[in-house]
Amino acid sequence: MSEEYESFCFMCKRPESVTGKMLRLSDGLCVCNDCLQKTIDMSKSMNFSPDMFFNKESMGVQNEKPEEAEEIEEAEETEDNEKDESSAKKSRPNGYPNVSFININDLLGQFGGRQAPKKKKKPLEPINLKDIPAPHEIKKKLDDYVIGQEQAKKIISVAVYNHYKRVATDTMDEIEIEKSNILMIGPTGSGKTYLVKTLAKLLNVPLAIADATSLTEAGYIGDDIESVVSKLLAAADNDVERAERGIIFVDEIDKIARKKQQTSRDVSGESVQQGMLKLLEGAEIEVPVGANSKNAMVPLATVNTKNILFICGGAFPDLDDIIKQRLNKQTSIGYTADLKDKWDKEKNILSKVTVEDLKKFGMIPEFVGRLPIICTLEGLNKDMLVQILREPKNAILKQYQKLLNLDEVDLKFDDGALEAIAEKALEKDTGARALRAIIEEFMLDIMYEIPKDKNIGTVTITREYIVGPGGPTIEMRTLTPPVIGVNTAPQIAQSE
Ligand code: ADP
Repeated sequence: MSEEYESFCFMCKRPESVTGKMLRLSDGLCVCNDCLQKTIDMSKSMNFSPDMFFNKESMGVQNEKPEEAEEIEEAEETEDNEKDESSAKKSRPNGYPNVSFININDLLGQFGGRQAPKKKKKPLEPINLKDIPAPHEIKKKLDDYVIGQEQAKKIISVAVYNHYKRVATDTMDEIEIEKSNILMIGPTGSGKTYLVKTLAKLLNVPLAIADATSLTEAGYIGDDIESVVSKLLAAADNDVERAERGIIFVDEIDKIARKKQQTSRDVSGESVQQGMLKLLEGAEIEVPVGANSKNAMVPLATVNTKNILFICGGAFPDLDDIIKQRLNKQTSIGYTADLKDKWDKEKNILSKVTVEDLKKFGMIPEFVGRLPIICTLEGLNKDMLVQILREPKNAILKQYQKLLNLDEVDLKFDDGALEAIAEKALEKDTGARALRAIIEEFMLDIMYEIPKDKNIGTVTITREYIVGPGGPTIEMRTLTPPVIGVNTAPQIAQSE
């Protein structure tokens, strides 16, 4: 090393005059004590076993210990002289202070050849038949949250009850009970996802929600089909047993219908349906733990999907045309022929869906066959939207009322206001999903202005405020007894 220039640390670039004496590596490289220590601390924090190696040749280090290294070692030893000498030696196999390098093969060995580390967990109690809530109880709980959709709630309650009965008993007198996976058909914002979420919460089982549009056949860009199972495993805190009793909801299932006039390979449509068959039926799937895709460093766990309840949901646009076509064809044949367009005006046409219609839509027969329970949700009308605003246990209005209550302000909504909000939501044609956005827009000013004035007692949202022009009605709270000579008469019904 030339004497003209000062050596500097190749990591932090500080000169030796600042860092103090440095460790000299081959090729004239130097490293300061601080950087060395940082590297050591980092490798320690990774918490790997001391079974690591240091490959001198590949690092280009000479056999002899450099003088500087000895000096640093000595200095360290005097600092930490309480440290156990033998353990210190163990972590410095080549005489470098605490330097150790990770051997990838050792890591893989630690996980037992790509097997997930086994946590010692209490095994899950088997499901007791008596603990499974009866269908009417499940529906009653769903009623607390989900408005309308009576038939769908009834079908799902029975299906879920039967599913967990099947899980609890495994087999019944050699008569194997088939898996009751569910297909949910309903327009967007009608409560499909909400219904499943509520169900999983009240049954206290893990739930994974996946989007069928992001799934592709293995090997193509997109999520592997099996990634839905690894999502469920993550929702169950990597507890395989708990995951095996969970629910997987695959949304937008209509988007994986067979594409018409497809010339290239359909990797995100029909192939995904094919790929899902074994999951729906029940198979042992190797899934990566804590990651979305399998790769060399991710441990794997085996999950059996036999007892996982699959619910597939979708809006199936144009399915109503297929149903109408079929029904109109049936009714216009024979002596009892009805008018050709008898079914055109039928509102709840989706409830008349058959497996044939779904096949015509583009679902493959094997796929539909593995979803034996079909339930349909109706589009929400104005009354239902008003109910959704007001009635569920965690209704949006209740949430705002609770927020303002913390400021000791009473929030009220006129019936007219609720109707106006519902009308606006209907225009957007996204079901109940539009409600929150509309309310949030109107509540912003209220939530901003009200806390300014501590005398405000009640705010009533009126139809005029929603449709404009107009404001909410604000009432001041009754003040403390008047002080003689000062006019403290409360202001009543003062409009903004
Ligand atoms: P989708 O049918 O498209 O899956 P969601 O279930 O995501 O619709 O509904 C969006 C939101 O609308 C839900 O989070 C829920 O708050 C509300 N919602 C929709 N339908 C209902 C319903 N029938 N009862 C109560 N709330 C509903």
